[in-house]
Amino acid sequence: MVGENIEVQSNISFMDAAKGVQKDIVVTPLVQCKTCTGNGLKKGITRSQCKTCDGTGTRVHFVQGGFQMASTCSTCGGTGVQIPKNGECGTCRGNGAVRERRTVTVDIPGGVEDGMRLRVMGEGDYPPTGQSANPKARTEKGDLYVFIRVSPDSKFQRNGSDVLYTASVPLTTAVLGGEIKIPTLDGEVKVKVATGTGTGDKITLPGKGMKQLSSRRGNNGDLRVEFKVQMPKYLSVNQRTIVEMLADEMGDKSAKRIMNLNQFRNQDTSAEPPKPGQSAEDHKNEGFLKNMWHSMTGQHDNLGKEEDSGKNEQGREPEEPKKASGSGSG
Ligand SMILES: [Zn+2]
Ligand SMILES: [Zn+2]
Repeated sequence: MVGENIEVQSNISFMDAAKGVQKDIVVTPLVQCKTCTGNGLKKGITRSQCKTCDGTGTRVHFVQGGFQMASTCSTCGGTGVQIPKNGECGTCRGNGAVRERRTVTVDIPGGVEDGMRLRVMGEGDYPPTGQSANPKARTEKGDLYVFIRVSPDSKFQRNGSDVLYTASVPLTTAVLGGEIKIPTLDGEVKVKVATGTGTGDKITLPGKGMKQLSSRRGNNGDLRVEFKVQMPKYLSVNQRTIVEMLADEMGDKSAKRIMNLNQFRNQDTSAEPPKPGQSAEDHKNEGFLKNMWHSMTGQHDNLGKEEDSGKNEQGREPEEPKKASGSGSG
């Protein structure tokens, strides 16, 4: 006799699915009745052959025309044996098995996928041996099936044992190159962002994925990172001016211009070469963008020298050119 299988559902997190986890699962399987040790009878009571069917379990009816019809014996229910009245075990009502709460520790392997079923041998129901015609028959418990549900993760997706992650990259880091932090299954790591990285560019961190379910050596899949460049939807006046300058510098003819950079340019090209002393003072009070523009177009090249020479002659500390260095962040 073989008992029934039991199926339970177990919900685990993405991380647990990645690494594997031990889960305590509470089940209430049929177990052998301890009172009657499974035979379903009160102490001292024994089964006897069913007198109605002579132990065959079936009754034969003779019907008109000489035909025979067989049906299940209603007295013994087809078992061929009879239990004396009130002779059934009180604990299991003659079933031979009772339900019992049990905790089964299940090893859920790393790499398990949503919807998979794990089979745990012999953790299912004990067969109802009290109902058996032959209580001494070999008995076998059913199995426990654990239906795995893996919750999705807010950061990661997966493709088999590979983990997928989309990393946001600031526009300037994407253009200039740099380094960003990304989460992995084992915590944050720094990855290099190549100069000129575009949305959709990918890098692979080998072995940083999920455990491979089929691998006995505990190999891991990869972490596949896809970059997504954060494009600003709004630009401040300064940002817009700089980007328009960049467009000019890169010879971009198609970009929209609204900042009228020519006001700087015309001023600068028509300007006289700066005069000593007076000119340096003028440049100190200019705005950040104008200052930058002047630096780019070379109009500040000789300001430093003037100050240096002034220090040597008069023995004074020169004033820091605050506009040139301090306002670079604004
Ligand atoms: Zn019993
Ligand atoms: Zn019978």
